[in-house]
Amino acid sequence: MALNFKKVLKEKEQDRCARCGACLSFCPVYQITLKERFSPRGKNLILRRFKPSRRERLIKETVSACLQCGACEVLCSAGADIASLIRKKRKEVSHLKSVPSSLFSIWKKFGDENIGLLFSRLSKIWSDHLYLPQESKDLKPFLKDTERYEIKYPPLIETQKRVILFLGCLQNYLFKDLSLRLLMLFPSKNLIILEKQTCCGLPAFSQGAFKEAKAFAQKNLLLIKDINFDVLLTPCASCASMIKKWHLLFKGDQGFFNLSKELSKKTFELSSFLIEEKNNLMGGIADIGGKIFFQLPCHHRYDHDNKDSILDFLDAFGFGLKKEDFLDCCGFGGIFSFSNPSLSEKIFKKNILERIDKEKGQKTLITTCSGCLYWLKKKLSNFPNVKIIHLMELFENERD
Ligand code: SF4
Ligand code: SF4
Repeated sequence: MALNFKKVLKEKEQDRCARCGACLSFCPVYQITLKERFSPRGKNLILRRFKPSRRERLIKETVSACLQCGACEVLCSAGADIASLIRKKRKEVSHLKSVPSSLFSIWKKFGDENIGLLFSRLSKIWSDHLYLPQESKDLKPFLKDTERYEIKYPPLIETQKRVILFLGCLQNYLFKDLSLRLLMLFPSKNLIILEKQTCCGLPAFSQGAFKEAKAFAQKNLLLIKDINFDVLLTPCASCASMIKKWHLLFKGDQGFFNLSKELSKKTFELSSFLIEEKNNLMGGIADIGGKIFFQLPCHHRYDHDNKDSILDFLDAFGFGLKKEDFLDCCGFGGIFSFSNPSLSEKIFKKNILERIDKEKGQKTLITTCSGCLYWLKKKLSNFPNVKIIHLMELFENERD
């Protein structure tokens, strides 16, 4: 049979994977399973070679066994971007997914004010997976009612920058004490609260529910577009990573595309912002006893590469962390922990539990992602000698 050169060239252009195998060393799912079909290289081959209609089970397993950690998106030197291929396939074969896109439509219909209610209902159905921290109480959005929180302490950062605070869903509904700490970072005249902000869209985007992710992004952008501000700050490295990708949802829509691109330059996750504002930090440093680990979330590690700056920054405040004190992926991956509980558990045990178990006595894990915070608090709730904190909790003002 004659070779169709045009077809081969087109395929090669789309399939940039050079089969080098470098991704075997950084994909958390491969690292746990040691099975080629779960590596980015293996997934690429399966998703390109087989039609979902003929190998339904194999395709379902392949698209599901991915945390969307972003490692292969960023580290593959050939630019194969397997994470993006997986998202596209998840969209194409939505009927094979364990969580249908309709979940996000329900989410939208519930309305932002009632996401807490949705969360509470889901926590009854998935009681093994979802838990509600004590401070979440009424599940009403924190930002809806910030006036009831009396802020009588001086700000922790003396900055002239006008800051929009983007909390993200977990922070807005569950971790309200942390949200309050964030409010106290800034002089109130410099702080812009968007009461009606909604999800950053990451859970939908990761599942290939692009229409729903776009609707979330669009709602937020419309709230922001006429505001004069310098920084959009979020305490969640995963929200920051998604906001920086919003432009991907607006190809062909120049207005929103440009708006997202501009916003991406002003978006900071907390550690990068604190590092930049280091000399303006006025508060004290919390007294953290015992061994300290820094769990660097995947969306922090790969999307805001500032590991060395974090070490220098913490060093300046007397926390002498070393590179080996960084912990990897916690195994959560949002919906991944529901659709692949056994893989998620194995990743958690290898990357977190076995690492911290080597240390005796009191331990503290610092993280920068609300999802990881949620997961670590849940998974380590029966370990009284392990404290899980958000980076924000390292800094205190007089109220503490
Ligand atoms: S996906 Fe990238 S890193 Fe993995 S085998 Fe292909 S070229 Fe190498
Ligand atoms: S996004 Fe992460 S989990 Fe998914 S294939 Fe790539 S490296 Fe593996």
